[in-house]
Amino acid sequence: MKLTFWGAAKTVTGSMHQLTVDGKCYLLDCGQYQGRRKEAEERNKNFPFPCREISAVMLSHAHIDHSGNLPLLVKNGFHGPIYASAGTADLCRPMLADSASIQEKDAAFLNKRYLRRKSLNVGAEAGDHMVEPLYTVENAEATYPLFRPVPLHAPTAIAPGIRYQSFEAGHMLGSTCMLLDLESQGRKTRLGFTGDLGRPGLPIIRDPEPLSAADYLIMESTYGDRVHEPIQSVREKLAHIVNRTYQRGGKIIVPAFAVGRTQQLVLMLHQLINAKEIPSFPIFVDSPLAVNVTEVFRKHPELFNREAQEFLTNHEDPFGFSRLTYIRDVEQSKALNDLHGPFMIISASGMCEAGRVLHHLKNNVGDHRNTVLITGYQAENTLGRKIEEQHAEVPIFGDPMPLRAEVQKLDALSGHADREEMLTWMKPIAGGLKKVFLVHGEPDQQVAFRAAIRERYGLEVIIPERGRSFEL
Ligand SMILES: [Zn+2]
Repeated sequence: MKLTFWGAAKTVTGSMHQLTVDGKCYLLDCGQYQGRRKEAEERNKNFPFPCREISAVMLSHAHIDHSGNLPLLVKNGFHGPIYASAGTADLCRPMLADSASIQEKDAAFLNKRYLRRKSLNVGAEAGDHMVEPLYTVENAEATYPLFRPVPLHAPTAIAPGIRYQSFEAGHMLGSTCMLLDLESQGRKTRLGFTGDLGRPGLPIIRDPEPLSAADYLIMESTYGDRVHEPIQSVREKLAHIVNRTYQRGGKIIVPAFAVGRTQQLVLMLHQLINAKEIPSFPIFVDSPLAVNVTEVFRKHPELFNREAQEFLTNHEDPFGFSRLTYIRDVEQSKALNDLHGPFMIISASGMCEAGRVLHHLKNNVGDHRNTVLITGYQAENTLGRKIEEQHAEVPIFGDPMPLRAEVQKLDALSGHADREEMLTWMKPIAGGLKKVFLVHGEPDQQVAFRAAIRERYGLEVIIPERGRSFEL
């Protein structure tokens, strides 16, 4: 039994781990790597194994950095089952379709630029060439029939010698941690995988559940060296930010992943407006994906926590309330440029790497009345990170733009547990663990978290490099 780390190794993106049992290969997650363009393209395009030899995929949740390379795996010959929760399977449809259409549009844009330069015979850089999208909407569509939704806690035989069971991860709708019972040549072992681990008390979704006992644990470490503010203080801070920007007549731009944060933020704003803690002001959710994904949320109220369920029974639908306008159409999105504040635009992508939020940032970061509100983790080398660090100038569409808008962070709305929350989550199983592998974290966060786990539980902790294998 062998475990090999191919993605989210010393980084936060591209989650993908390979498990080999009795000569058969399985993947835990198949995420898209996000980062510098060329490196990301190379990494995503070239799988380090023959895709048709993968027998099955076990998917922790629908975020693109965990699921986004599935269509490419299928394009390259994978045709096995993909085990996931029903929420994840339903969310993957709009999310993979959106990812595919971004790939197609990106390739079309680059090809148009290449052909124009070629015809003018100017500026064609060495190595400039026609590009193909990483995958197409058609490839994404070929992926959906492979999903096998599995209820939480139901032990499921994947193949002889491998049994899968999932637990609530509390990170986003449908997110799971998993436990794999492995058996080879009479030897048994148990491997746990956190996927992305959420925080207790997040709006809408349920709290993370502990795993049953395991021998090995693959653990995320995004905030291995950070402690978030308590959730309760988020509401107050959000109210302050809204009121201050409102008084300046400014706009609030919120780069947010279309899934998770958007719905949580909308619910929180709704509660603040109802409590008259902030004025009733226009809120736009500008993302075709957020619209589709919100429909999946409506379909799965059974996955909500008690607060959200009560809110649903006692109030109007929190995802479609009257002050909120969902924007699907590009022309409507552009029309927001001519509208005067105060108002809020929530738009993807969350790390400001692509999508409509780029246009809104370009039009608004130069005005001191406005606020950019960061609600999630910003990876190294992303525009979101540069804004978070408040660089005097930030590059948007290749142009340096002065950053004069106020920048605020709501880390506590993050879908990721902080150091203390992760340590507490591990506690019930720490005594039985032989080894912990840290993934999904930048090196400084991982090194600090390794020290914290060693100190608290005296466990052996490994920070695997990409491509390293371990016998279990
Ligand atoms: Zn995630």
